[in-house]
Amino acid sequence: MKYDVVIIGAGPGGIFSAYELVKSQKDISIAMIEAGNPLEKRKCPIDGKKIKSCMNCKTCAIMNGFGGAGAFSDGKYNITNQFGGTLHEFIGKETALDLMNYVDKINMENGGEGTKLYTTANSEIKKLCLQNSLHLLDASVRHLGTDKNYDVLTNLYNFLKDKVDFFFNEPVEKIDKKGVTYFVNTDKRVIEGDRCIVSVGRSGSKWIEKVCKELGVKTLSNRVDIGVRVELPAVIYKHLTDQLYESKIVYVTEKYNDKIRTFCMNPYGSVVTENTNGIVTVNGHSFEDKSKHTENTNFALLVSKHFTEPFNDSNAYAESIAKLSNMLGGGVIVQRFGDLIRGRRSTENRIEESFITPTLSATPGDLSLVMPKRILDAIIEMIYALDKIAPGTANDDTLLYGVEVKFYNMQVDIDENLQTSLDGLYVIGDCSGITHSLSHASASGVYVARKILEEY
Ligand SMILES: Cc1cc2nc3c(=O)[nH]c(=O)nc-3n(C[C@H](O)[C@H](O)[C@H](O)COP(=O)(O)OP(=O)(O)OC[C@H]3O[C@@H](n4cnc5c(N)ncnc54)[C@H](O)[C@@H]3O)c2cc1C
Repeated sequence: MKYDVVIIGAGPGGIFSAYELVKSQKDISIAMIEAGNPLEKRKCPIDGKKIKSCMNCKTCAIMNGFGGAGAFSDGKYNITNQFGGTLHEFIGKETALDLMNYVDKINMENGGEGTKLYTTANSEIKKLCLQNSLHLLDASVRHLGTDKNYDVLTNLYNFLKDKVDFFFNEPVEKIDKKGVTYFVNTDKRVIEGDRCIVSVGRSGSKWIEKVCKELGVKTLSNRVDIGVRVELPAVIYKHLTDQLYESKIVYVTEKYNDKIRTFCMNPYGSVVTENTNGIVTVNGHSFEDKSKHTENTNFALLVSKHFTEPFNDSNAYAESIAKLSNMLGGGVIVQRFGDLIRGRRSTENRIEESFITPTLSATPGDLSLVMPKRILDAIIEMIYALDKIAPGTANDDTLLYGVEVKFYNMQVDIDENLQTSLDGLYVIGDCSGITHSLSHASASGVYVARKILEEY
């Protein structure tokens, strides 16, 4: 089993590498190895009735399988260098933007046509934010929506399936390098490759660290983002979401001068759980299809923490906080903003009597028993700041789900070709630590494929 290129991980990074290699019509043999299922077999058992909380499946249907962590996401492709990763620091700002636009074009050709591209350019909202000490970041946002995102992935798979050898349900255990050849070991076989592209995402964070150690590739510590997911009636953010869909707004707290920002805004969406290596956290998505809309909008409020000395494992810090919420709430905790401010826990009764219907069945509780004071203070300060541009944000009934964590992988030491110190070993997408989004991960996939194609 010998291939020119072995791709590990079938998330956006891996898929777009394969797409670009195949599209070149050069005679390149490709294997793609994926820990999870093909797209159509990915099904999370949580139905809200018989199974209400995470069962810790062998591979998580939300995070693993063809499409990667992005498969059931909201499909928001942010075309910008201002957030979503630092790919531009490696490949240049112009190239990064060109590639993100190229990815958008491919998505449009594969089922995304007709979806809306939002932009912050010349937005009145930017002025309104500035007048209230809030900073709106610049971006164009393509919102595919969970349903169209699924269609695009189906079409991309159909394009690839006869030209790439897929190996599903085969987590790669080990990579060896002998001479110029890579030996990729799963529990079923060893696959050889002249070049190896690793794109295992956040769910592969622990594994890629191990691989780097074994192969002598350097890694650097990275930051982690911790916070809550806010859910409120969609009408409160309608003036922002109608115009921008997603607004990334940054605020610097008066108390500590900490930066806190909105993240992943989902108009008329739902709050969902996410399982990363057995730790249950919260996330959100929304459908393009109006019949699947809810009456709520949700978004995250996140604070970045980066530890270096003497403790440098930022992810472990956030894991401990998430574990605490899992311990107290059996999973995700939900609290009304009014209860948090009054220093009391939310109860089933208080949630039921409020004027907002939660879209996720979470355990009513007290987030102040879980979140560090500094982070919670920043969240409260920002909610009041947002209340000035979207009155109603600080209503008693606003729901806060915790905890939301954005784990970033240790940054792998890669060069301007996204290649490690080992010739032919590329690390791309979220597992490289330099991308944190669909558009950046996909762009990194195209970039590496083109670098490899230059050699053929
Ligand atoms: C619920 C949710 C909503 C999101 N919404 C958005 C959004 O709207 N916009 C946005 O920009 N980003 C969003 N994201 C983040 C986005 O999905 C990721 O940034 C993106 O998927 C990263 O792509 P990737 O290819 O690097 O990794 P992934 O998508 O994580 O794919 C990695 C793949 O590698 C596989 N893998 C892991 N370990 C191994 C192994 N040892 N062997 C073989 N295979 C392995 C995994 O099973 C997975 O399929 C969301 C994430 C989640 C979870």
